[in-house]
Amino acid sequence: ATPIALTVSAGALAKDGLLVTRGHAIETLARATHFVFDKTGTLTSGRMHLCGVQATADLSELECVAIAAALEQSSEHPVATALRQAAGTNLPTAEQVISEPGQGVEALVDGRKFRIGRPGYALALSGATLPSAAVDWLESGETVVLLADTHACLALFRLGDELRPESKALVGELRAAGRHVLLLTGDAPSVARRVAGELGIDDVRAGVTPQGKYACVKELQATGAVVAMVGDGVNDAPVLAQAQVSVAMGGGAQLARTQSDFVLLSENLDHLRHGLRRARRTLLIIR
Ligand code: ADP
Ligand code: MG
Repeated sequence: ATPIALTVSAGALAKDGLLVTRGHAIETLARATHFVFDKTGTLTSGRMHLCGVQATADLSELECVAIAAALEQSSEHPVATALRQAAGTNLPTAEQVISEPGQGVEALVDGRKFRIGRPGYALALSGATLPSAAVDWLESGETVVLLADTHACLALFRLGDELRPESKALVGELRAAGRHVLLLTGDAPSVARRVAGELGIDDVRAGVTPQGKYACVKELQATGAVVAMVGDGVNDAPVLAQAQVSVAMGGGAQLARTQSDFVLLSENLDHLRHGLRRARRTLLIIR
C-alpha cells in the first residue's frame, strides 16, 4: 500500500501543477543524485522563431522556407514549428517523408529529394561541405539547421529560442542541494555552451543523438547515480524511459507525457522547484 504521506503529497503536487503518474516517483525524485536536462523546450521556451535565412544555391530564400516547411509538415520539433510558422499556408506537398529523430527530415518535393536538419545530417545527402557563411552562424550560439538536396546546401536557417525565466533558479537550487546538474542536448556545442553558461551548468554534452542520450544516462547509472531526466520528449522518449525518474514538460510530445513519472502541467519550472522541496519533505516524513 502507498504510505499516506505519499498520497497526500501527490495531491499537493498536482495542485501545484506537477502531476504524479507513478507511485514510487516522489521518493525517487527526492533521492535523485543527478538531474539531466534537455535544452530545447525544457530549459528554453521551445517556442523557436526563424530569425535568419541565407540561400546558398539556385533557390530563393522564400522557396527554401516553403520547401523546409513542407518537409516539416508532420514533425513536432520546435524547429519544425518555427519553419511552418514562417512559411504560412500554401505549401508544396512533401512525399516519402522519412523523419530521423534528433537529426531532421528527408522527403521529395516535386520529385526532388531534400533534407532539413542538423548540418551534418543535411549535408550528408549532397556530400557538400559546410558553406562558409554557416561557420559564422554556428558560432553565434543560436540553433542552425540546413536545407540541402543531393547536389548542394541550399539554405541556412537560424532559430532563436529564449531561456525560460525560471530555469536559473531551478538549476541554482539543485546545485545548492548538492545535486549534479547536466545539460544533454542534440544541438550544437556553441548553443549548449551559451545556455549552460547563462544557467551556471558546468557539465554539458552537446551534439548527442537520442541513442547517445540514452547511453549517457546508462553510463551515469553504472556509477551508482540515481538519474532524474527532465525533457519535453520530442525525440527523447528512450532517455526519459531509462532514467529512474522522469519529468515531461506539459506542452511537449504526447508520447513523453504518457510515459513519464511526472508531467509539468503548466510548463512552469517553478512548479518543479517547489515540487522537489515538497518531495524532499515527504521523504523525511515517511522515513
Ligand atoms: P534538442 O532537443 O536537445 O535540441 P534533438 O535531439 O531534438 O535535441 O535535436 C537535435 C538537433 O537536430 C536540433 O538542434 C536540430 O538541429 C535537429 N533536428 C531535430 N529534429 C529536427 C527537425 N524535425 N527538423 C529540423 N532539425 C531537426
Ligand atoms: Mg528535444
